[in-house]
Amino acid sequence: MSASELSDTSKLCVHTITTKPWSIEEAMDKYSEAGIGGITVWRQWLDGRDIASVGGKLRERNLEIVSLCRGGFFPAKTQLGLDEAIEDNRRAIREAAELGAPMIVLVCGAVPGQPLEESRKQIADGIAAVLPLAEEHGIRLAIEPLHPLYADDRSAINTMASANAVCDQLDHSLVGIAADVYHIWWDPDLAAQIQLTGEKGRLFAFHICDWLTPTSDLLNDRGLMGEGCIDVRGIRAMVEATGFSGFNEVEVFSDRWWSQDQDEFLQAIRSAYLKHC
Ligand code: ZN
Repeated sequence: MSASELSDTSKLCVHTITTKPWSIEEAMDKYSEAGIGGITVWRQWLDGRDIASVGGKLRERNLEIVSLCRGGFFPAKTQLGLDEAIEDNRRAIREAAELGAPMIVLVCGAVPGQPLEESRKQIADGIAAVLPLAEEHGIRLAIEPLHPLYADDRSAINTMASANAVCDQLDHSLVGIAADVYHIWWDPDLAAQIQLTGEKGRLFAFHICDWLTPTSDLLNDRGLMGEGCIDVRGIRAMVEATGFSGFNEVEVFSDRWWSQDQDEFLQAIRSAYLKHC
């Protein structure tokens, strides 16, 4: 591997869920050997682990901990449900602090049958409720707008504009947006919204993958960059034009890729990143 190739992947981050068959221990060794610069850790990967010790091992391997995934799921139909969601998000903030992650990605949540407006209000209220603890630990909260096909049960925040509206309402330097190409590529206002998000200083994260045609599963059939129809390079250019200098985070949920050799998959991720992003 040449030095220039190494530098090319210095801003490449992989989400642990992307290589789902690997434990956090396997993932950290493999990512580090491949010259990948960053890692986003999904909370399930910390189950049964000493979180602070995992954070130390990641840093020893020169992997920058980009974020902890995920918090959110604030909406509920009962007060108990609302309270439990807030408690879980506080737990996530403490986990992020222990791990040494500077940011939590929020998949904000929705409840089937509950008006989206009500869910959006509960989302804003939920984030406001956990902000004091986030402040205490200096953890940023990144709202990730989800594609409208997830508006029933995963998120009532479905566009960059909708995420920006929540950020405007909360008006806090620790609240921003995680822009994931899978969810926002179709939006006619994308360029203007990315620019606005950057101007407001709240573009916190950039997630990449691709949209397959046809898509066989709404959740677990994402493509690797270059396999589908998203102009990842074009969207990255919009993001970087705002001054964003963070990581390009590969987040691919794919039963197809998970069933294959993960070493080969990691090489494919690396190649796809260098070629298509
Ligand atoms: Zn994402």
